[in-house]
Amino acid sequence: MTRTLVADTTKKIGESVLLQGWVDSKRDHGKVTFIDLRDRTGKIQCVGVGMMGEVTIESVVQIEGLVKERPENLVNDKEPTGAIELEVKAYEILNKAEELPLTLDTDGKDIGEEPRLRHRYLDLRRGRMQDILRLRSKFSRAIREHLYDKDFVEIETPMLTKSTKEGARDFLVPSRFQPGKFYALPQSPQQYKQLLMTAGFERYFQLARCIRDEDLRADRGFEHTQVDIEMSFVNRDQVMARVEELVKDAVKKVGGKLQNEKFPVVDYDEAIKKYGEDRFDLRTEQEKQDGTLAFAWVVNFPFFKKVDKADAAEVRDGKSGWTFTHNPFSMPLEEDLEKHLEMEDIGSIRTTQYDLVCNGYEVGGGSVRAHQPEVLINTFKVMGYSDEEIEASVGHMLQAFRVGTPPHGGIALGLDRLVMLLAGEESLKETIAFPMTSTGRTAVMDAPEMVGEEQLKELGIKIVSD
Ligand code: ASP
Repeated sequence: MTRTLVADTTKKIGESVLLQGWVDSKRDHGKVTFIDLRDRTGKIQCVGVGMMGEVTIESVVQIEGLVKERPENLVNDKEPTGAIELEVKAYEILNKAEELPLTLDTDGKDIGEEPRLRHRYLDLRRGRMQDILRLRSKFSRAIREHLYDKDFVEIETPMLTKSTKEGARDFLVPSRFQPGKFYALPQSPQQYKQLLMTAGFERYFQLARCIRDEDLRADRGFEHTQVDIEMSFVNRDQVMARVEELVKDAVKKVGGKLQNEKFPVVDYDEAIKKYGEDRFDLRTEQEKQDGTLAFAWVVNFPFFKKVDKADAAEVRDGKSGWTFTHNPFSMPLEEDLEKHLEMEDIGSIRTTQYDLVCNGYEVGGGSVRAHQPEVLINTFKVMGYSDEEIEASVGHMLQAFRVGTPPHGGIALGLDRLVMLLAGEESLKETIAFPMTSTGRTAVMDAPEMVGEEQLKELGIKIVSD
């Protein structure tokens, strides 16, 4: 007999079926044992007369039985299968579950992060987590479909790369073939996506994994996923309009509710004056209750800021005491270009950066890029880089800018953050299948860990303890 899915049993009253799934719950009534069998499509009550007594919760079972209508007084209107049940004829335990280290009958928020992540494969079985990951998949699909329709090409970029200057520390990977040298894991595909514009693709996107060695916060780890987009022959307004259309379409496709069809555009100075920060929440109390998403753009940021001496990455980048606020590859606003090229009045130069905010969070950011060598060179000069340091750092970009690079711009949208808001959750970790713990340990598997002497030797690495 081939497998029937639980959702299809309502159409099979009076028929014999084979079901496979997990034991969601079990009630023993003397000779009769009731279990709710769960598969990816739903749950159904199964009734075993004189059998199934030994079946344990969360075991995987296969059951053959007859789909029957329930007596009128036992119909449960709340369940799609509440009017039927399965009369068990035969069953087999495919994998017996021992006593579970976690309870699965709550939303999980009452359980500590450590046990939830150590047994994440169990934690993910709860309905709330299933719903979030399915929402994430649906949302990613809506994004992909929208972008494919608009002629974007999905292209992967390397994971082993060189420092990409997104303002965080790099994760380094030692090279075995060139001992003493290191790759960096990408903080974002920024430079590669720009080089794809040089390569003539004109419209690129990728659901990109980005890895930044940032100080951990309760709700985030070292990795995140961004919807990374880049377009050629565009100005700031055109990128914003294209992205706004994408966000609105994908949000609606997963049933999200938007406050505005046209996202308000707020000047950075005005945002600071009005809200005290550049990630503000435009929702009313009522809208907060009903899960509305209030998107807005923030524009006209300062390009540079004074280096925060407590931030090692900023100190490294801002040799002159100035560093970039968002992205060193951005173009200044046209009216500030002259000042940028003359390196005058640095603090007043504004960038073409646009940030997308939603419900008090930054959910995306991008800019029109410098595509002329002298503009990028000057950005690094402002930060105090010598000619040699500029060449070593972005010489490859400058070369590309000398062989026909079109004007271009793009954005990265935080996929984890958007899904978090759509799901009405408060932690990014709830949107990621296997997130890291707040102390930087991997879910389920125990990393980081020590490696053997042999492996270190191969890499030319000695651990020095102080
Ligand atoms: N690369 C930038 C980031 O990851 C986004 C962008 O400007 O496209 O923050």
